[in-house]
Amino acid sequence: MRIAVLSDIHSNLVALDAVLAAIGSVDAIWHLGDVVGYGPEPDGVVARLSEAGAIGVRGNHDAAAVGGPEIDWFNHDARRAMEWTKATISETTRTWLAAQPQRRTEAGIALVHGSPRDPTWEYVTSIPVARANFEVLETRLGLFGHTHLPTAFRDDDGRLEHISPSRGSELDLGTGRFLVNPGSVGQPRDGDPMASYLLLDPERLTCRWERVEYDIAAVQAAMAERGLPSQLALRLSFGL
Ligand code: ZN
Repeated sequence: MRIAVLSDIHSNLVALDAVLAAIGSVDAIWHLGDVVGYGPEPDGVVARLSEAGAIGVRGNHDAAAVGGPEIDWFNHDARRAMEWTKATISETTRTWLAAQPQRRTEAGIALVHGSPRDPTWEYVTSIPVARANFEVLETRLGLFGHTHLPTAFRDDDGRLEHISPSRGSELDLGTGRFLVNPGSVGQPRDGDPMASYLLLDPERLTCRWERVEYDIAAVQAAMAERGLPSQLALRLSFGL
């Protein structure tokens, strides 16, 4: 069984299409939120996920896009991009985004955007934060996004390990408990501009991080055309 886990696509349809082409046929597509925000093609990304039957959870940008108060916490560029997103998305996109739950459990695996204890906002970037979240995690395996960093935390009977995977890294999920982050499809921040995603096999209990190149210049041109902040476009070149 192969499940593609995608997070933080951020309206980057070119990156999403490169990922979908690379993964080929899978049994399911799960997304971990922040489907929209920052990037130039919110309607296109939602349409693609919807066609593919992807299921997932709502991120802070998705909540803001459907009118939530989350926008008040955004920095200047994120807010400008979100104002544009809110004004441009179709009713179909709005309805699809509004239907995404804050958290869900699939095949005994918890899905959230931020963290199990704060699915909208918390960034799980350190062992102390991971430890607090293992305490509230009700499943053996949890998937999260939001940091845009490919990462995992393993809880081996209270002994925590922080794993920083590289392209092609596999992780054996057979023993212990795990919080796993696929990295970001549409706006990676680990210094590698390639789109990041995870392939998960919940039967063999393994996962593998993958990267794929996409046409960054095309996305930057589309962002410029729509008047989106140039800094948001520029960072795509560096994966930062
Ligand atoms: Zn995000």
